[in-house]
Amino acid sequence: MEPIKTLPLVFEEPQGPRGPKPKPPPHLADLTPAERKARLEELGLPGFRAKQLSTHYFERLVDDPAAMTDLPAASRDELVAGLLPHLMTPLRVMEADKGATRKTLWKLFDGSLVESVLMRYPGRVTMCVSSQAGCGMACPFCATGAGGLTRNMSTAEIVEQVVAGARSLARNEVPGGPGRVSNVVFMGMGEPMANYNAVIGAVRRLTDKTPDGLGMSARGITVSTVGLVPRMKQLADEGIPVTLALSLHAPDDELRNELVPINTRFSVAETVEAAWDYARKTKRRVSIEYAMMRDINDQAWRADLLGDVLNSYGDWAWVHVNLIPLNEVPGSQFTRSRDEDTDEFVRRLEAKGIPTTVRDTRGSDIDAACGQLAAAE
Ligand code: SAH
Repeated sequence: MEPIKTLPLVFEEPQGPRGPKPKPPPHLADLTPAERKARLEELGLPGFRAKQLSTHYFERLVDDPAAMTDLPAASRDELVAGLLPHLMTPLRVMEADKGATRKTLWKLFDGSLVESVLMRYPGRVTMCVSSQAGCGMACPFCATGAGGLTRNMSTAEIVEQVVAGARSLARNEVPGGPGRVSNVVFMGMGEPMANYNAVIGAVRRLTDKTPDGLGMSARGITVSTVGLVPRMKQLADEGIPVTLALSLHAPDDELRNELVPINTRFSVAETVEAAWDYARKTKRRVSIEYAMMRDINDQAWRADLLGDVLNSYGDWAWVHVNLIPLNEVPGSQFTRSRDEDTDEFVRRLEAKGIPTTVRDTRGSDIDAACGQLAAAE
């Protein structure tokens, strides 16, 4: 095997040319209801208007100030500027699967680019959102990893991706009739646990009841991580029962050190133990993500080892494995596993009692599948 090319791990946002980068404008989705009221009062505006603005944003999914006719015309612009500043502009929307998969490329206030993907299935709609512009985790098979970290996204920038999807569904712009977002997966660009506070804020906004938030069920939300162990522990103690997905990709330290470089800080054993701890505390089944890479991590013996590693914790079905057919990134040394190797991998895991699924590859033809989001413009 050709040696795997490595990139440095980056945890902190890189500085701009003149010190820390400017922050996106504060938006009501960054704030709790009490903070929204306080912000309007600071601006010399009546605090009770915060609830009306929240209703427009989260419940009625209105974005045009002219449609907010319950706000006095004289102060409408000031109210909107105070709590609903413009955050991001869609640069491009690409569709696949007859419109059931839609990828949006967003330009943020400072020119940073991120992507989100809407996936409609019979009976559910999943939004895959980004949590950082770029990513510092340097996984060599991932398109986002290759570009490094630009910056963390704000809570409102994360939430706005979901609200934008909710608007297009409510307005019947997605084939299949009007609908709602039922699931959110933090599997777009970025490492959510490296932008912890903003991500938790976003989860709270998504799950707060309308009109304070979008009113989603925490069970419909999946946070995916490379395995930042201290943050996984913190998440387990938040008391929000989101689903945790752990991007394992190898059951042994030797290979995982290369595929998921954070493994050099937190070993497979420490990482899987933190996942087990999460399952134990939240009673939520953890999902192990494993991208199948031909002749790299797809050997039958590694399936056996993965089964043994997972079975060394917990005697209930605390975990399932989701095999992701590798989405090939142009110029990358990694290719997709042969079907027969994937089938054998599934058989070996199931023989050890591990529930295993193979993920569909929605959006791969518009570079909208896992690991393909790179905002290449
Ligand atoms: N940073 C988070 C979320 C980002 S991506 C994480 O790593 O979990 C969501 C999933 O897509 C992760 O499991 C990631 O490892 C996987 N992925 C990345 N590149 C991929 C590729 N080229 N093909 C298939 N899956 C990939």
